[in-house]
Amino acid sequence: MERNRGERAWILHHHPFGDGGLILEVFSEEHGRLGVLARGQRRRGRLEAGRPYWLRWAGRGELPVLQGAEEIPCSLTLQPVPALLLFYVNELLLRLTERGDPQPMLFAEMEDTLQALAAEPEAYWRLRRFERRLLEILGWAADLQCCAACGCALDEGYAQPGSGLFCAAHRRSGATPLSAAARVWLAGAMQAPPPRGLAGELRAYLAAELDQPLAGRPLESRRLLAAYLRRDRKRKTGEEMQAR
Ligand SMILES: [Zn+2]
Repeated sequence: MERNRGERAWILHHHPFGDGGLILEVFSEEHGRLGVLARGQRRRGRLEAGRPYWLRWAGRGELPVLQGAEEIPCSLTLQPVPALLLFYVNELLLRLTERGDPQPMLFAEMEDTLQALAAEPEAYWRLRRFERRLLEILGWAADLQCCAACGCALDEGYAQPGSGLFCAAHRRSGATPLSAAARVWLAGAMQAPPPRGLAGELRAYLAAELDQPLAGRPLESRRLLAAYLRRDRKRKTGEEMQAR
């Protein structure tokens, strides 16, 4: 039997299993994503998504068994990430990573994103950074500098989701322009918010790119998030009208 000494890990999702048990879908620092069986945890109910744990498990194969779980104290306990944003990040990881495929860089990226969103929940550009980094790390990111057909340095760039960016001469029908400002931001460190006015363009471009590996199956969290933002905008406009 294989036993691990303990590892930093996040619970992406869990569902009931058998008599009082839970199956945890976990994203761990060294092992990547894996399923872990937690016996008798349902009654104790102290394992939650959106917080880091020190997890120990034993056993090989499809479903190792949880041996211990300690929450790692961090600021997220006091100030959790808004549930919808957490759901979105977790759903992307669940859909686009595979069990048994270690992804330490993506793990670090996820932790940075969640910490940043907990501190500043309206910094949606952090999600754009996470989406682009996820595409890069998993090998699906488009080259932002050169045309995918002729290799020339892009002046104007036209995005064809899943195929890359093309110059004006090689633009295919249906490709959408991606502005130079958006390309510069995406190709950089993405440590500061993008310039004003780019949010919608970046959101649409990255959503289209992600649709390829998601094979067109929509994300439940994206639908909920869009509905929430619509309601929130309506509420804010309503308040402005009343204040006039
Ligand atoms: Zn070209």
